Amino acid sequence: MISVEKAHKIINKTLTYPKIETIPIEKSLGRILAQDIVSGLNMPPFDKSAMDGFAISSKDNSEKFSIVEVIPAGAVPKKRINRGECAKIMTGAMLPDGTDRVVKREVTKEKNGVMFIKGEDKAFNVCLEGEDIQVGDRILAAGDKIRSAEVGIIASMGMNTVKVYKKPLVGILTTGSEIVEPGKKLATGQIYNSNSYSLSAQILELGAEVKYGGIVSDNQKLIGKSIEDFLSTVDMVLISGGVSMGDFDYVPQILEKLGVTLHFEKVAIKPGKPTVFGTCGKKFVFGLPGNPVSTFIIFEIFVKPLLYSLLGYTFAPFYLKGVMQQDMKRKKSIRLAFVPVMYNKGKISDISYHGSAHFNVLSQANALLEIPVGIDEILKGSEVDVRQI
Ligand code: AMP
Ligand code: MG
Repeated sequence: MISVEKAHKIINKTLTYPKIETIPIEKSLGRILAQDIVSGLNMPPFDKSAMDGFAISSKDNSEKFSIVEVIPAGAVPKKRINRGECAKIMTGAMLPDGTDRVVKREVTKEKNGVMFIKGEDKAFNVCLEGEDIQVGDRILAAGDKIRSAEVGIIASMGMNTVKVYKKPLVGILTTGSEIVEPGKKLATGQIYNSNSYSLSAQILELGAEVKYGGIVSDNQKLIGKSIEDFLSTVDMVLISGGVSMGDFDYVPQILEKLGVTLHFEKVAIKPGKPTVFGTCGKKFVFGLPGNPVSTFIIFEIFVKPLLYSLLGYTFAPFYLKGVMQQDMKRKKSIRLAFVPVMYNKGKISDISYHGSAHFNVLSQANALLEIPVGIDEILKGSEVDVRQI
């Protein structure tokens, strides 16, 4: 059995560089940038009006101004504006020569081609060339996640395609002769397959892709065949169940037979001790304990950071500081425990968690309390960090 820290180190050592592809910007939401975005433009690209109004020189304190031109957005001004003159200008239009100020329409009066300033407007109401961004500025960096705002920023640079990291394809295989797909009738002794669906959702949430391999009964040949198929078609294989000490837990030996190098088979973590991790060439394989909370938490702790790296993103868990509202005690302290808890406004509350088969607690939990090796109690009132999930 190895420590959680050691397991992380082993996983990190197997990392490979993510692959890159070029995609249209409208398909880029949620993807990870594989290029820096450096501006080839000044933004705004020219001095422009920020208001509908009249462009004048700020030094001109004439009483009235002849309107010599009307400038809509997108037009290039034709005339230079002299003393006693102005141009009627629309928001976003280019300022004409001789002007540096726009008097907003609301404080003016217009009559027979002449403009009078009727009220006070001290603002200049102009946006100067390069005020937001200058040529050569790095706007976004490789590794940034593309959210809605970033899609707009990339478009504003005039780019209609962008380089992103390729989505890894993750195969999910569920083992267990007792497991039945939701929607079917349960016979005595059977249970519904929840792991395939929670895993699939966890993978999709990160932005990777899923290939579902269905349920395979506890039969060495069948499990071997399914894993072999996956090893030639996906980037990572997640196998649920079949990794514990039971008579029908065949997964580690099957993986070895298929040429998968097993890097670890047991981790000092609770829940999820019998977690298996292996590689086969550039493919990654996890054997996840079948208990639903274990599967969920092991994904969060080990699979998620690796999958994010394959997506080109550096994941760092987010911790929240809070005060324990109850005592948390345990009998053995040889494993690092992750206990589902509820965090709210600095308070950390226990939820009635009966162990790794008790899946519905996860809907109340929004954080994991880490209890280090060697610690058997965390008392009410203590201040601790919890990991957001
Ligand atoms: P195993 O690791 O195969 O020994 O499974 C441990 C426990 O998790 C058993 O009680 C299984 O019935 C349960 N289990 C295994 N796979 C699933 C699954 N896909 N969905 C829900 N529970 C599962
Ligand atoms: Mg099983």
